[in-house]
Amino acid sequence: MQVVCLDLEGVLIPEIWIEFAQKTGINELLATTRDIPDYDQLMHQRLSLLDQHGLRLDDIQAVIGEMSPLPGAREFLDSLRQNYQVIILSDTFYDFAAPFMAQLAWPTLFCHRLEVAGNGKVVNYLLRQPDPKRASVKALKQLNFIVFAAGDSYNDTTMLEEAHAGFLFRAPENVISEFPQYPHTTEYGTLREQFDAAAVSPDARLGGREGSNNK
Ligand SMILES: [Mg+2]
Repeated sequence: MQVVCLDLEGVLIPEIWIEFAQKTGINELLATTRDIPDYDQLMHQRLSLLDQHGLRLDDIQAVIGEMSPLPGAREFLDSLRQNYQVIILSDTFYDFAAPFMAQLAWPTLFCHRLEVAGNGKVVNYLLRQPDPKRASVKALKQLNFIVFAAGDSYNDTTMLEEAHAGFLFRAPENVISEFPQYPHTTEYGTLREQFDAAAVSPDARLGGREGSNNK
């Protein structure tokens, strides 16, 4: 059995924090995992900016409520789910993701939670576990699934490494040049072809514990 693990932001939906930064005019919120590899550092920066500007969870959710998945994302995902089990592995938060999941027909999503005070202020974020994308792929491999993965940022690269086959999708130049081992594409159709090619490769057919890429 084959599982496809997809990143969410930048692959299926726009970057939530970029949209929020543009709506609020807070330029420091434009930084994403594409710019700052250390997610903890990035999130602490975001939370302190929210605090400084007196912004609460419902301010972010109001922006999210007006956003849509990227053009073609729903069709790509629907088609992919007909042939593969698909799990979205994201460093976003369930508190943000729900409106997008509704528009994407509720795919399975593994992500994180925010800690929100009674007044709606975001006081902390709760990672489910360290290096969650890699850990999820590793766990699926222990269940004897063949795993293919695609993402666009630094926080995807351990998932791509752990998977039997990993791909970059619409990644920025700095990520593409630092990780040349992963094929890069910008089109859903091409990414689908790459998954399909990986699915019939010798590695995938061997599968499970006998797989030659059983890292
Ligand atoms: Mg991303």
